[in-house]
Amino acid sequence: MEATLTNPETLLSLEERIRELEIENKSLAETCHNLATSQKKLEELVAASTKKQLAMEMQSMELEQIFSSSSDPIWVVRQDGTIVRANSAMLRLLNRTHDAVVGHACHDVFDFCSRDSARCPLTQAHLPQSFHEWDIECPNAKGESDFYMVSTASLVTLDGSPGIVGHFRDITIRKRAEAALEQANTALSHLARVDALTQIPNRRAFDEALQAEWGRLAREEGPLSLVLCDIDCFKKYNDHYGHQAGDKVLRRVAEALADCARRPADLASRYGGEEFALLLPQTPLEGALSVAEKARQAVEDLALQHPTSSVKPILTLSLGVASVIPSLHIAPTTLIESADKALYQAKNADRNRVVPAVCSSPTSLNL
Ligand code: GH3
Ligand code: MG
Ligand code: MG
Repeated sequence: MEATLTNPETLLSLEERIRELEIENKSLAETCHNLATSQKKLEELVAASTKKQLAMEMQSMELEQIFSSSSDPIWVVRQDGTIVRANSAMLRLLNRTHDAVVGHACHDVFDFCSRDSARCPLTQAHLPQSFHEWDIECPNAKGESDFYMVSTASLVTLDGSPGIVGHFRDITIRKRAEAALEQANTALSHLARVDALTQIPNRRAFDEALQAEWGRLAREEGPLSLVLCDIDCFKKYNDHYGHQAGDKVLRRVAEALADCARRPADLASRYGGEEFALLLPQTPLEGALSVAEKARQAVEDLALQHPTSSVKPILTLSLGVASVIPSLHIAPTTLIESADKALYQAKNADRNRVVPAVCSSPTSLNL
């Protein structure tokens, strides 16, 4: 044994083997180190991925909570019309259970959602990025109407098919406020054009009608007539019977005059004080004179006692009549001026009469 170990050849081979083992050992150590590093990296990757997955799950839960807790009805509908999701607000709106909604065709659970309608979001759902918004009216349990603003946007549903997410915002309060405002505006606009005392159209309504008819008849080249009426000796009536009795008479006269302007476009209005105007579109002078005479007679027929009148012991009217084929180059006020001049002549001719205006303009029939 000793002889073998001392053998230089053996020694040499042993040394070489030791070196080889040392190299192998070093390589193994390196491999171990690499393995440890890889394991660490793997563990880090797994941790990161777990964290990411957890975050995604949290995010998904959060979205689910937002979806379900939203007080606005929301649903997701596939392009074929199948409802994929609906939150509880949507179920309340439809007044159905989850199972009676999800999996069913939206057309079967909601009337407005007609596949044939151009407004149905489902007909638009294939368009990328398409977004639609419109109002719908839904009858509620009380037999009234609720209003929703529906906004829809295209999305890809979980199974990869195209669809829409529809969001319904309750705008009933706003809609009712708008309707109330519109009603109030209509009432206000009516009030602004009605004379408070006599309840017939007022001067503003007259001015607007004159302007409108002037334009219309200028285009149609039709006649427009105006009868200006003024109660005779009305100051004396007030002085004798008092202002309140005078007001009462104004109401009676207004009623009688409104009764004389019978065609749909005719307008009897209180022009101011104890003056009234009858605007008679598409009426030539002869017709207007006849209406004016009827008005004069109608007031006489009221037989309202007026003992202090200088005309006769009952209330009477003086009337000036003018008629014109309007032109856009002439101001409508010319018609008023002509009728007013005629009225002045009626007053000067002892009152209680109808006087036509004298022709003074090429476009006038009798100005
Ligand atoms: P004429 O025959 O020349 O028209 O005489 P008149 O007295 O009718 O005319 P005048 O212009 O001198 O007086 C008009 C009167 O109309 C004066 C006013 O007291 C009365 N009057 C105007 N508006 C009202 C009203 O709203 N109520 C009452 N009660 N009287 C009114
Ligand atoms: Mg007057
Ligand atoms: Mg008068």
